[in-house]
Amino acid sequence: MIDTHCHLDASEFDADRDAVVARALQAGLTGIIVPAVTADNFGAVREACAHYPQCFPALGLHPVYAMQHQEGDLLTLETAVKNESVVAIGEIGLDAWDKNVDLERQKHFFAAQLKLARDMDLPVLLHARHAVDEVTGMLRRFGVRRGIVHAFNGSWQQADKLINMGFKLGFGGAMTYPRALNLRRLAAQLPLESLVLETDAPDMSPVWAHGQRNLPEYLPRIAEEIAALREITLESLITACAANTDTVFAQIHREKSIFTLLSQNLATEMTSPSPQKLRATSPSPSPLRGEGRGEGKTHKTTRTKSEQLAILTTFAKQMRLAPTEAEARLWYFLRNRRLNNWKFHRQHLIDKYIIDFICIDAQLVIELDGGQHTDIIAQQNDLARTVFLEKRGLRVLRFWNNEVLQQTEAVLERILRALDTETPHPNPLPKGERE
Ligand SMILES: [Zn+2]
Repeated sequence: MIDTHCHLDASEFDADRDAVVARALQAGLTGIIVPAVTADNFGAVREACAHYPQCFPALGLHPVYAMQHQEGDLLTLETAVKNESVVAIGEIGLDAWDKNVDLERQKHFFAAQLKLARDMDLPVLLHARHAVDEVTGMLRRFGVRRGIVHAFNGSWQQADKLINMGFKLGFGGAMTYPRALNLRRLAAQLPLESLVLETDAPDMSPVWAHGQRNLPEYLPRIAEEIAALREITLESLITACAANTDTVFAQIHREKSIFTLLSQNLATEMTSPSPQKLRATSPSPSPLRGEGRGEGKTHKTTRTKSEQLAILTTFAKQMRLAPTEAEARLWYFLRNRRLNNWKFHRQHLIDKYIIDFICIDAQLVIELDGGQHTDIIAQQNDLARTVFLEKRGLRVLRFWNNEVLQQTEAVLERILRALDTETPHPNPLPKGERE
């Protein structure tokens, strides 16, 4: 169960954030999406998400703070989403209810962020208060088709339009009030494929916490209310909402599989590099690449749960926030079809391997090495991995990090050549010839 909208970075949680997250996880939450509201709080959002592997950041400029936003904030946002792993642009939109905030100014920032979302192929987290039609119109104008209208509160017709455009509608605390007849009808009768769950904590408290701080741990109870209104089981509601959330946030889905894979590896106490060693090989998170690949000495370990969690957290953090410089550089050119319109995915899971980059259409895998594989065992593991991938009909190109950084153009040329070659060919750069 994912809380698709929770301001976990808010100061209301400063005193007990650890406990709030712990209770949310205990209540059954598997993920929390944390949207930003101003450029000033990007740091707090990042920090919260770096600290808890179950939290995923969205960055954006909220319409209610439009008088505060500066032109430069848009550039800050653009730079951030191009260089960091964020799951969405948000919270963005229009608020016609707050008359103190100039609507034209809101539209200016909204438009710029919609363009960014479209260019970066990212979903949007939308705020649309007394402005659903305007928001819908702008989504259409800018060709944005993936995201969530958070705390949806509009008419049946407005909901219908958004759903047909591909958007999901977020329901939370507001629909728990008996007098919220319109919201309760929508939650009860809209197609199940269009609903996602949210709390908007610390705001929009449900009826049972009226006047108090809202908390992500209330999400299961909100789900229960919706399930009861729809006269379906809680389980089927949760399953449906999870699937809906997954379609919006493809990236979370990938990170979750990575996380699951890691948990399994650690839980079964396989032979794995020691934590000290893993930290030493930072920033390249190579332990993700499967158990057999440990660099240098490996040993059997029996770890306590909290030790395991600490390691997982470190990995998850590295995965999302610290791609190596070379990874970030190459991804800049591969993402959003920048390379001759070929579509690439990053950190793609194939069997037990996490692939750095893959172009599925061209059956081409691109792998980067941290430059730390000087020992024979690591080299053999790389080779085994290449053989495994090639057996599946994939072509594999390997580059060293410094190659990507120092000869970017040559690397891109080689990738382009490989993309244009129809027939699979053996790895043109066997490991042994590289050093
Ligand atoms: Zn919000």
